[in-house]
Amino acid sequence: MSFVIEPPSGLLRGVPPGALLGDVWTEYSPSAHEQMLREQPQRYVEMVQSISAYGICLLDRDGVIRSWNRGATLISGLREDIVCGMHYARLFADEALHENQPQRALDFARANGHCREEQLRRRGSGDTIIVSSTLDVLRDAEGQLTGFVEVVQDITEQKERERQLYERATRDALTGVANRGHFCEIAQQEIERARRFAEPLSLLLIDIDHFKRINDQYGHEVGDQALCMIARACRGSLRRIDTIGRIGGEEFAVLLPRADKQPALEIAQRLRRELSEQKIPAPPRRHNISLTVSGGLASLRPLTRDLGELLRHADAALYRAKRGGRNAVLAWFE
Ligand code: GH3
Ligand code: MG
Ligand code: MG
Repeated sequence: MSFVIEPPSGLLRGVPPGALLGDVWTEYSPSAHEQMLREQPQRYVEMVQSISAYGICLLDRDGVIRSWNRGATLISGLREDIVCGMHYARLFADEALHENQPQRALDFARANGHCREEQLRRRGSGDTIIVSSTLDVLRDAEGQLTGFVEVVQDITEQKERERQLYERATRDALTGVANRGHFCEIAQQEIERARRFAEPLSLLLIDIDHFKRINDQYGHEVGDQALCMIARACRGSLRRIDTIGRIGGEEFAVLLPRADKQPALEIAQRLRRELSEQKIPAPPRRHNISLTVSGGLASLRPLTRDLGELLRHADAALYRAKRGGRNAVLAWFE
């Protein structure tokens, strides 16, 4: 048996055929494998069959599953006798089916010889898993497509670990909103975007009034709960496109894309009112306490140099709000 596997695109760019590896990619003739297949076909089948870390599956040219190894069973929780004869698409989770992922993978492999991607699959138990899939086309000696061979690996745990690491690196652990670094990253991108599309953008700084007193009077834990309340109330009140960050101990920043000074000031005033209406349970008798905040607002102008300047302007406005008696939002005046 001899079949052709096309090289992953780009792998051999600039290398003349045969220069390094013979025609190993374009005329793949694995002589040792072939010899084993000819002389000990049963052992060869057992070898592929017994691989457990990788799911290996053969599809015919229409995408119908024709063989299924032990790894594929372990990963999917589906037995060979159940899946053989089923279409490849049946392995996918609903979200992937809505995006037509199975058909797109087959079409891409048909066109490019190879398709490698992460996919959402459905296990026999109904759970969803993430796999890394590599699909190669198989062709006969005349170059006609005869089917596909797919190798999959379950990367669900790895993706979950990556997600947790990303969360830890970008979120404030206490309140769950963006941390300072992540907020600034998003703000910089949004400023660039606003400039490119000539859209307005505003930045609001919020600082809790007399927060030290809350800590002193009711304890640090109540103070922490107050910080969580601010984050929660901001999330509940603001638009989906807004970003909330905790940029200091009791200082929050809110990025308001597509909002110029006047609408942003209205959003900020509403938020300030809503925050002052929130109740925080505090010991000794768990009576509810409340707090107020002050805010400083700055809006992007053609001459605004960068995020640093926008933050400085918002901070100057916040300082004036504090000096003026607190529980107020003021805008930077240009
Ligand atoms: P002002 O109205 O002028 O802002 O008064 P303030 O008391 O809020 O003054 P300041 O900003 O100087 O005080 C901030 C306080 O916030 C000091 C610090 O103990 C407290 N703080 C900072 N981070 C945390 C935190 O993570 N948890 C708690 N509970 N308190 C914090
Ligand atoms: Mg402060
Ligand atoms: Mg304060």
